[in-house]
Amino acid sequence: MQRTLLFSDARCLAHETPYDHPESPRRLGAILDSLHAAPVDGAAWASFRPATREELLLVHRPEYVDAILALRGRTFRLDPDTWLSSGSVDAALLAAGASIEAVRALCEGKATTAFALVRPPGHHAEPDRAMGFCVFNNAAIAAAAARAQFGCERILLVDWDVHHGNGSQRAFWTRPDVLYFSTHRAPPFYPRTGRLEEVGEGLGRGYTVNLPLPAGTGDDDFVALYQALLVPIAADFRPDLVVVSAGFDAHRDDPLGGMRMTAAGFEALAAIVRGIADRHADGRLLLVLEGGYDLDALVDGVRTCLETMCAEQVEPPPPAAPGDPARRILEAARALHAAYWPSLRAVETAPPPG
Ligand SMILES: [Zn+2]
Repeated sequence: MQRTLLFSDARCLAHETPYDHPESPRRLGAILDSLHAAPVDGAAWASFRPATREELLLVHRPEYVDAILALRGRTFRLDPDTWLSSGSVDAALLAAGASIEAVRALCEGKATTAFALVRPPGHHAEPDRAMGFCVFNNAAIAAAAARAQFGCERILLVDWDVHHGNGSQRAFWTRPDVLYFSTHRAPPFYPRTGRLEEVGEGLGRGYTVNLPLPAGTGDDDFVALYQALLVPIAADFRPDLVVVSAGFDAHRDDPLGGMRMTAAGFEALAAIVRGIADRHADGRLLLVLEGGYDLDALVDGVRTCLETMCAEQVEPPPPAAPGDPARRILEAARALHAAYWPSLRAVETAPPPG
């Protein structure tokens, strides 16, 4: 079995955005150039097909899907930030198809981990509208396909992009089979959703976990939150697949994010989600590319995650001590979510070092 499969297609570069738009083809171009020039041991390229209309309907409404398909080959502005060029609809179909086929490869035992290196990104796309550079919600479609087509019962969808994945949250808001866990810059930052109190509704109550964070949040804060909250929640949820909306715009060099993460922080988060996948899901871990607008930070982040996915064995990062703002969010989130997740009741906060 292949350790890691990479799903990408040069046609994703044909989704063109206006001059100076942060989500430019150069982002994915830089990643592909880097991985071709210096391949990561254990990672191989997979071939795949575009998503079908039926598959898009796992998350999106038929009127929306048909409206997008009718724009194939045309230039169109879908929302203030989201544009279609002549190649965009095909790129979006490939981005969703890559994510679905990556899940198939994991569930059919062809690979242990996979990375969908695609654009346009997806996590802002709601069931009935495009938003925030996103057309189809690739990661949400992957999670829904895992459930509907590939026999998974519980999918953990982690989102470490600096923006809240409003579309993913909405897709699974009332569902207990997909647990959405997001760290992001707090509202009113774009897209103005993702408050702590947003926990899902109906059968899905408790299956949405939002950790809104202030500007300047750094590696130790993120790692501490994932260790103290995601790891115990995952132990209770016992996912059989882990999907990550992997954005790299919480990096300190990102022009949009305002956070202070480094490549070492992304490596630690990758090690944590890999540990969860290894423990509960036979290793099945899929990363789907979302944002990240500083090219060097983006390429480094993708590479460090990929190396962590490809490694024979990965040690969990040492316990991290959050700063005061992150600690306050951690305590508030633990108090709120302890109602849904028994493991949070047993876990005490690690004392600060020294
Ligand atoms: Zn983002």
